[in-house]
Amino acid sequence: MHISDIKNYLRCPRLYQLSLQDEYRPFPYFNINIDVDESIRKKLDIDRYYEGIANDNNENTLRAFREYDWLLKCRFMYRGLRVRVPVLFHDGNECWLYFSFLSTAPTEGELTNIKWTCAVMEHLGFVIKGINLIHLNPDYVRHGELNHKKLWHISDSFYNDNNNPTRNVLDAYHKTRFNLDARLDEFLHFDLDDEDPVIRTNKCTGRSKCRYYDVCFPEESQLPDNSILNLVSSQHKYEMFNSGIKYLSDIDLTHFEGSAQQYAQVMADKKGGLYFEQLALQSWLSENSSETMSFFDFEWDLFPFPPYDDMTVMQVLCFQYSLHIEKDGKLEHKQFIGMDDCRQRFIEQLIEDVPKEGVIFAYNAKGAEIMRLRELQEAFPQYHDQLEQIIVRVVDLANPFIKGMVYDVRMRGLYSLKVIQAMIDRDYSYKDLDVSTGLEAVAIYRRIREESDPDQRNKYYQDLYEYCGLDSYAMVEVYHWLQSLVKP
Ligand code: SF4
Repeated sequence: MHISDIKNYLRCPRLYQLSLQDEYRPFPYFNINIDVDESIRKKLDIDRYYEGIANDNNENTLRAFREYDWLLKCRFMYRGLRVRVPVLFHDGNECWLYFSFLSTAPTEGELTNIKWTCAVMEHLGFVIKGINLIHLNPDYVRHGELNHKKLWHISDSFYNDNNNPTRNVLDAYHKTRFNLDARLDEFLHFDLDDEDPVIRTNKCTGRSKCRYYDVCFPEESQLPDNSILNLVSSQHKYEMFNSGIKYLSDIDLTHFEGSAQQYAQVMADKKGGLYFEQLALQSWLSENSSETMSFFDFEWDLFPFPPYDDMTVMQVLCFQYSLHIEKDGKLEHKQFIGMDDCRQRFIEQLIEDVPKEGVIFAYNAKGAEIMRLRELQEAFPQYHDQLEQIIVRVVDLANPFIKGMVYDVRMRGLYSLKVIQAMIDRDYSYKDLDVSTGLEAVAIYRRIREESDPDQRNKYYQDLYEYCGLDSYAMVEVYHWLQSLVKP
């Protein structure tokens, strides 16, 4: 058993049990383009070391202790619980531990892993003298070869959400020390009865929705579109549901938080399924229309380690765009895919393809396309003004939905472009494509570089063109659907 099992158990015993039955592998969001262990060794000037391997037992690790001062990925086990320390320096049985993070400011949320690891080591007789966090340096910008010394920071404290240091890690561990044997007893003797009723708690839907939610509560996906459980950002929807309020239109006003989105949802149900604010939507559409209208969507990959010059840590690299241009009732499509360092070609072709005037729509533009264009401006200041000409014309097509100007109960409380497109076009949807999500597109992009069969490469390119192409085409459809709603 590993700390991940303990973490699952601590969140919810049922989650732990379900996780034993599947081979869950989360999507690797980061494109790791370097040897991370080697980079950390360079940061810490480690020349001579022992590198642990999977299934190393305590004896192997202790043997390495006798021969080396530095141990990497070393394993320890206590009563069946296996832990791994990324980097360890020791002087006899006194140890200084280094935990590595592909983030710029590890928070106290990381303490669980650290404290269970330290607890196991202390039970094996080691003395923890220091705990350090090795994390990415947020100020590092690549110029030439990667500078491993500057790439990482070493901190003995956690950070808060504003990236300021908070508690010392060793102190935090000492203050949260626990009785390892008692906790392991509880864990090892745990036996969940399948007959026990499944109780919904905030652990099911908290910060991130539990991945087994649909397994535990399958009946929810069968609920009608206008179910009260589809009310967005509501603290009280389950309370209302359990008290017998089943539909949006029956909402208990004392439990109505009053956001524009919630209001639109309730009104949509009262009006038979669809609600739109005629005047607000009409005025938004007329403010955001022009003779030439463009709709664009970008795809990108996320690199913790900057692969090219002028990139920072944890930066994204745009590798694709799709652009639909509507003028005089005709629709034109332009697109781009680039490999390796395609940033300059991406910019140049985008500047050439995007019409010099008119509104440009993107969906969730502020946190996506606009942010990407700003990053490109910074890395390529020679294109700053031309990119600015594009940025100032970008309008977020999600706004009418997010601001509660329109809601259709078929959205079921979801506001993604895919959901809305599927609702308004039953004949053509993402489900018809071989690549139907952004993550699948990233996976295909990564695969292209490795693929030697030209036919398969062409197929991958085709899949990417179709996927991103549908994103920008979907925006055209959504725009016209909004127009059709307010037409006299
Ligand atoms: S959905 Fe809730 S009850 Fe089910 S496994 Fe997840 S946390 Fe546990």
